[in-house]
Amino acid sequence: MMVKYSNLNAVQADWNAGKITCRTLVEYYLERIEATRHLNIYIEVYAAEALAKADALDAQQKKDPELLGRLAGMVISVKDVICYKDHKVTAAAKILDGFTSFFSATAVERLVNQDVIIIGRVNCDQFAMGSTNENSVYGATRNAANPDKVPGGSSGASAVSVQADTCLASLGTDTGGSVRQPAAFCGVIGMKPTYGRVSRHGLLAYGSSFDQIGTLTHSVADAAVLLELMAGQDDFDATSSSKVVPAYSKSLNTKKIHKIAYIKSAIEHKGMNEEIKALTMQHIEKLRDEGHLVEAVEFDMLDYLIPAYYVLTTAEASSNLSRYDGVRFGHRSAAATNLYETYTKSRTEGFSMEVKRRIMLGAFVLSAGYYDAYYTKAQKVRRLIQEKTQAIFDNFDFILLPVSPTPPWNIGESLRDPVAMYLADIYTVYANMIGVPAIALPIGETSDGLPVGIQFMANHFNESELFNFAND
Ligand code: GLN
Repeated sequence: MMVKYSNLNAVQADWNAGKITCRTLVEYYLERIEATRHLNIYIEVYAAEALAKADALDAQQKKDPELLGRLAGMVISVKDVICYKDHKVTAAAKILDGFTSFFSATAVERLVNQDVIIIGRVNCDQFAMGSTNENSVYGATRNAANPDKVPGGSSGASAVSVQADTCLASLGTDTGGSVRQPAAFCGVIGMKPTYGRVSRHGLLAYGSSFDQIGTLTHSVADAAVLLELMAGQDDFDATSSSKVVPAYSKSLNTKKIHKIAYIKSAIEHKGMNEEIKALTMQHIEKLRDEGHLVEAVEFDMLDYLIPAYYVLTTAEASSNLSRYDGVRFGHRSAAATNLYETYTKSRTEGFSMEVKRRIMLGAFVLSAGYYDAYYTKAQKVRRLIQEKTQAIFDNFDFILLPVSPTPPWNIGESLRDPVAMYLADIYTVYANMIGVPAIALPIGETSDGLPVGIQFMANHFNESELFNFAND
């Protein structure tokens, strides 16, 4: 019987002690993948490849363990919007049907260079647009805590792959909460780094000024080591930062006392579920008992977060997704008789309702007569939010927020009302609007046994502090 591992150090310790091999570990995860098929997590499982890599690592460990990469023994899944050379990537959309990546995302390449084992490609909301993982050509992924519930999105299956113990960690992406919200819904840890910390090269773009690759893990230590190895400047992404990447995983127990602000109006918001509110307040008390200074602050721009986010991200999406024209990638309509129809029919057939809604919304807010009223205005709002938040960070280390105002919805529940779904992103889009890092941590369960998370945002490039604090 394989134990359920919750961090890489434990895997490596058992491997070094001869209790497991990489092969037995991968075999165990492959069995778990089969046993959890009903949750619809994986689009594709790289069984043969993962086993071959495991055998190679086992052989290397016997021969010359010094040559093993830092991540030897870590088995991960990858969201279907992140490119892995010679493997398919579809963004859970028909428009990319049959498309194979001809290069790896920089983040993937850096992890592979450290001997990570990629066990498969997992489901998500189409082009990372959604909060439930229901917007996918592969169908909905289910929450392992209760299969009638959604796992959150858009990196829903990434979260469930870790929650259901089919791998140790997963790579997701976060444009407005897509790593943190599913982490909270599934009881795992979700980390979104500072914008520019991880290269976006090889990540299928949704909102380029918001997108970041992030991690879903059981432990803070694993989130730290993954970020340490993925982060850093990349010639293929001009927005990647040249700031030195700290050794996050090396200094995780500082036991520092922190100053934490919580936004009162966020926790008291009318849309907040009572049980989540109570758990959040309890957590605040717990932090105070540990000696941290936790104070309520005012922030009067909460209600502008969602409108500004959905104006800006749809604008960026409408531009980014124009490359899927039926000519260059994946699906091409068989019904087209001329070039114009190739574009229109391929796109009509290839995108989901939700993606089309956002492309149209984005084209509208960018159109000549409305550009200033919507796009320019939203940019100004983004700047104001940035300034007002910096004023909070002048006096505090972290800002505490809920992750989601509600527990996971029933499957099918939110599809009827997209606006209600958008509104539930209120606490997560904040970090992406201003580009700061944020981590979602599990803090308990509702009376129905559904996981609940809490979120901490830090100032730009303060991931170290965030990890240290989260690990204490
Ligand atoms: N739910 C948000 C949206 O649909 C966030 C998505 C994301 O972070 N990729 O836009």
